[in-house]
Parts: sequence; C-alpha cells; structure tokens
Amino acid sequence: MAISSGFPPLLKIGVFPCAVEARLRTTFDLVDLHELDDTADQRARIQGIVTRSNYRIPVELLERLPNLRIICTNGVGYDGIPLSYARNRGIVVTNTPDVLNKAVAELAVGLVLALLRNISQADQFVRTGAWQAGTFPLGLNLAGKKVGMVGLGRIGKEIVARLLPFEATIAYSGRQRQDVEWPYFNDLGALAAHVDILIVCCPGGQATYQIIDAQVLDALGPTGILVNIARGSVVNQVDLVNALVNKTILGAALDVFEEEPLADSPLSRLNNVVLTPHMGSATHETRMAMAELAIKNLTDFFETGQAATPVAQ
Ligand code: NAP
Repeated sequence: MAISSGFPPLLKIGVFPCAVEARLRTTFDLVDLHELDDTADQRARIQGIVTRSNYRIPVELLERLPNLRIICTNGVGYDGIPLSYARNRGIVVTNTPDVLNKAVAELAVGLVLALLRNISQADQFVRTGAWQAGTFPLGLNLAGKKVGMVGLGRIGKEIVARLLPFEATIAYSGRQRQDVEWPYFNDLGALAAHVDILIVCCPGGQATYQIIDAQVLDALGPTGILVNIARGSVVNQVDLVNALVNKTILGAALDVFEEEPLADSPLSRLNNVVLTPHMGSATHETRMAMAELAIKNLTDFFETGQAATPVAQ
C-alpha cells in the first residue's frame, strides 16, 4: 500500500485500467479486496470503497466494514450495490454520470451499423479470401429506419442526437412521457411493434428485470433488431436466443449480458448477432474522465461531507 495521502485508505473492488488505477493511487492508498484481512483493526480503517459498475458488492462484505462511509463506483449503473442496505447505514453511494454519455452513445451507433451492414462478417469475408469466390450479401440502410429507445435518459438522448443525422426516426418508452417531440409509448410491446430497431438504455435492477421478453421480441418481428447497451438483466437471454435461432427477429447487438464475462453461450455461435465485452465507456478519454469524477466524489466527500454526484437513495 502506498503511503500516505491524508485520506483514509479505500477498498478497491474490481480491475481498473492501469492508467486509471495509477491515477487513483496518486490520491488514495488502495487496499485490494484480496488484501483485506480479518483483523478488525485493518477493516476498521476502511471508510470508502472504490469500484466499477460491473461488480457486485455483497452485503456480507459491507457488514465487515464497520466505519464505511462511501461507496464510489466508476460508472453510471449502480445495480450491483445494495442501495437500501447502504441507505439504512447512512453510507453515501456515488456514480459517474454524464462523462461517459458520448462514448456509450458512439458504441450504440456503431453496434447498429455493424449489425445492419454485417461489418464483422464483411471483415472475415475479406480476410479469409472468400471475396475471391463471390460477392458479399447485401445489408440494410439505417436511413429511414424507426428506432425505439427503451429509456430516453442521458445516454439515450445522446444516441438519438447521433441517429437523427443518419435520417432515422425516433420513438421512446420509459416510466413517464417527456417534453420531447418524439412519440411516447408506455407499452413496450407497442413500441417494439412500431419500430425496426429497439435500443435498450434504461437502468438495470429489479424494476427492469427481463422487461424485454418473448412477447416484446415477437412484437419487434422478423425484420427487427435489438441493441442492448444497458444491462444484461433487462433482456430475457433465453427468449432472445430463441428469437435469434428461430429468426423471429432479424438480429441483435449486445454489449451486456446476464452473466459477464460471457462464457460458452449459444449467442457466440449465431451469426445474426454482434457481441462486445461490456465496453460502452471503454475509451482512454472516458475512463480517465470517470476516474477524475470518482476522485472528486471521494475527495469532496472526505473534505466536506458532500459528494459531487451522489445517487438518489
Ligand atoms: P438515466 O439518465 O437515468 O436514464 C435512464 C432512462 O431509463 C430514463 O429515461 C428513465 O426514464 C428510463 N427508465 C428508468 N426506469 C425505467 C423502467 N423501470 N422502465 C423503463 N424505463 C426506465 O441513465 P443513463 O445515464 O442514460 O444510463 C442508462 C443505463 O445505461 C445505466 O443505468 C447503465 O446500466 C447503462 N450503461 C451501460 C454502459 C455500458 O458500458 N454498456 C455504460 C454506461 C451506462 P423514466 O424515468 O421516465 O422511466
């Protein structure tokens, strides 16, 4: 452990890009989860956790940290953090909203284009020499497609801003209608039936658990495609595989999965899918911006008791 920042040591949960971890270590002494020993003395020194939004934090771990005051996640989703437990103990939870919107939106648009134009297969077609023997199958335009946003929040709006210049038209769902010009659907099935492309960008967690199921996929129909950059928990993965195998939808592009990393899965054997390893925010610029905001949350909190971007608890 590096000595000594003046701030209490932080428990680090998860693997961070090297540059991000190095930046964190310029300001904080970090204790890796595997270094957390069973001495009450060491556990009592931990007042903060720094983590990433794709790690789950079990209540049992928090119970071993009697003086924990803040859980700071690098990421906007916080469905892996036991919020009500934290609230009851007065533990502040912070995330890093907004600074990652552009990177996630860029990936979402990239996934849409990769799927419509079969870019992964086209790359293989050239590399393997298949081009010598024939022509590549036709793809589909993005221009003129109807896109349904499942969740029109910070990231959803950035995706829309990038889709409009491609001449796509927009509709959206969410718990409530917003003051925007695009048609609102309070029923997910009706939204799916209305559009060609469904992009999932709502939060994970209990309220959205498997809201994209066989019924919604049926409504999307055999020419429809699903893009999920939100959380794997939002989509019933068994229903999705069935829809892809039976071609009751045309294709899917997925950055997030029920279990991550994705192990052996029928999804990996289907050619009407594009798969990426939960990398929505994974650019140098964005991960550093997330780290800076996480550090601001922690330093503000330890210095003033007030974090910059706490989540509503
Ligand atoms: P946000 O600003 O809070 O927007 C979330 C949107 O989802 C809101 O428009 C909200 O509208 C809607 N929503 C909330 N609960 C819903 C429900 N029960 N049913 C349907 N819609 C619901 O969040 P954000 O910053 O855009 O981030 C969205 C999510 O993207 C995050 O929670 C995270 O899981 C995911 N994400 C993924 C990556 C990646 O690497 N792939 C990176 C960053 C974020 P209403 O309030 O009207 O319902």
